[in-house]
Amino acid sequence: MDVHASVEENNTIDWDTEDEHEIENIPQTSKAASTSAGPSNVSLIQHFIGMGFPEKFVTKAIKKNGESDSDRILETILAYMDGHVSDEENVDIDSDTKDDLEIQNIASTSCSTFVNRNAAIISNGEASSSRGPSNLNTVQHFMDMGFPEELVTRAIKENEENDTEKILESLLTYSQMAPEELDTYHASSSQQQCVNYDELSSDYDESLLDGFSEDDSLSESEITDNQSLPENEQMLLSLASMGYTVEEASAAVARCGPNASIAELTDFITAAQMAKTEAAFFEEEKPKVFVNPKLKRKMYQEALKRKKQKGPLTEEEEVIRIPKPMIGFGVPSESRFVTHRTLPDAAIGRPYFYYENVALAPKGVWDTISRFLFDVAPEFVDSKYFCAAARKRGYVHNLPIDNRFPLLPMQPRTIHGALHVTKKWWPAWDKRTNLNCLQTAYGSAKNMDRLRKALEKWGDEPPDHVKKYVLDECRRWNLVWVGKNKLATLEPDEVEMLLGFPRNHTRGGGISRTDRYKSLGNSFQVDTVAYHLSVLKNLFPNGINVLSLFSGIGGAEVALHRLGVPLKNVVSVELSGANRDILRSWWEQTNQKGNLVHLDDVQKLHGDKLEELIGRYGGFDLVVGGSPCNNLAGGNRVSRDGLEGEQSSLFYDYFRILDTVKTIMNKPN
Ligand code: SAH
Repeated sequence: MDVHASVEENNTIDWDTEDEHEIENIPQTSKAASTSAGPSNVSLIQHFIGMGFPEKFVTKAIKKNGESDSDRILETILAYMDGHVSDEENVDIDSDTKDDLEIQNIASTSCSTFVNRNAAIISNGEASSSRGPSNLNTVQHFMDMGFPEELVTRAIKENEENDTEKILESLLTYSQMAPEELDTYHASSSQQQCVNYDELSSDYDESLLDGFSEDDSLSESEITDNQSLPENEQMLLSLASMGYTVEEASAAVARCGPNASIAELTDFITAAQMAKTEAAFFEEEKPKVFVNPKLKRKMYQEALKRKKQKGPLTEEEEVIRIPKPMIGFGVPSESRFVTHRTLPDAAIGRPYFYYENVALAPKGVWDTISRFLFDVAPEFVDSKYFCAAARKRGYVHNLPIDNRFPLLPMQPRTIHGALHVTKKWWPAWDKRTNLNCLQTAYGSAKNMDRLRKALEKWGDEPPDHVKKYVLDECRRWNLVWVGKNKLATLEPDEVEMLLGFPRNHTRGGGISRTDRYKSLGNSFQVDTVAYHLSVLKNLFPNGINVLSLFSGIGGAEVALHRLGVPLKNVVSVELSGANRDILRSWWEQTNQKGNLVHLDDVQKLHGDKLEELIGRYGGFDLVVGGSPCNNLAGGNRVSRDGLEGEQSSLFYDYFRILDTVKTIMNKPN
């Protein structure tokens, strides 16, 4: 539970990246459970009572430790709760046997059970573990243990009434959750009851996806009902439906003002086009226009509609399901392969494209992505088939799929194979063989310390509730055993290795450890991507020109290089300076013979620049990229808006740029 997480830890968590957390219902840190309450005595007492601890333990612990060190207070309270108090303290606290009984009841539910409980209930007496299982009694029984009535009734409803073990298990799960998580959990529990960590760290149950709905996806009526939009957005849409690009339309609106007529706006755009001064209007002088991501999608939908004469997706048309096992068209370790597929005509030919994003996106997202990317079906692959860590991703590409080959040497696919040092200390009861998805944030030292303390109280075989608490934390933070009772987060070097990057790829040059984790957590798993890109080696023996969008730390570049595909010209578009530095430095260290050009923002990359680059290099052979998944990934509780999220809508820029490149490259000279 997360009385164990500090505020500092909270702040470093980047929930943006990954798809695992939410699905796994891993206990999260609740603000209410943070230990940073102000030191005024009353509010401090209240703070711990609010976390579910009995008032007498709280006051006692504060008296013992003073008010300023809330961590120590918490440790002391936990010790009281676990019954690990010195004799003197025992005497001090209470000699009432009824209370003792209560304490024992509570202690048996582990130190990870005391979030959000109503402590007042604990002291209301009449606790007895021998009550019969008639509903009322069962309710009372668990309430006497300190669980709020509402949760108790829920837990009983979800389990057999006489299966008190299961009920207790549910209650423990609930009490590890923050209130908002609890709501999500209950809202989705009907679909998610089958969730179990082991399954999720390895295989994915497609039924889970049904729990996600793209709430604000656009209905047909929304798309056509532009009247409800603000006036200038209506104007933008009208321009889009006339065939102008988002950039042209928004620049024109910004330039001519919100009251301009359609005629004025189209005049402006045409004049700009005719005078071939797009650069002046749309580049240098381009006013900063914020294009609402929803509008962006609508405009592209309009463009697409004109192109394909297709309406928007309806619920029934949302068909893409995540396959199980998640091996795409095949992986080296499995004997099942698909070696042929028929691509839609519009997708065939140069440039090859390769788009990546998290597999477990909200409902409908992959349908939309696929639809935009010329109706190519995604290939879903879990990187656990390529390394010791899971990473479930979807890839839409038009590459051939036969004669693929893996990078050699292939990575070990078990934790022990990849991280030898851990084997010696790994307890038999930790059954993990794979790591979960590598994240952008890692557990804190404090957390490791708490785990050590929790384990040190027991011998080699801690009780089940301690095991559960420890394993939950291990899975949540990808912890590995590095000593007796000693757990540790993965080092950035280890993450680099697991992801297939060279050692020290992200190290040095001023990048912080936190940023290393973040950049790595967002990157491609190189072996996986290389397997898909390997077909390019025979197609382009003399090297390729790559347009690399959202390059990050260069997962695609590293993959191609390791495959032995010469990089002739790479135009890399990446917003983060730290990431650009990493790629540049790798480029130099690996003595690349080609050119690396850096641009910063995909939103600023328009037709004229693309035309120039295509002219300069004779076109691109590959347009590769994985746009940010911030609003798609399960871990993001704040904003899981689907493709309309501010970051995720950058997918439409991937599409726009690819589409423009195709158009320019297909233009007869
Ligand atoms: N595939 C990459 C990582 C992709 S993560 C790798 O292998 O490392 C998405 C990347 O998009 C991040 O590095 C982020 O900095 C970058 N990004 C976000 N907004 C961007 C924008 N507007 N233009 C270009 N890059 C952007």
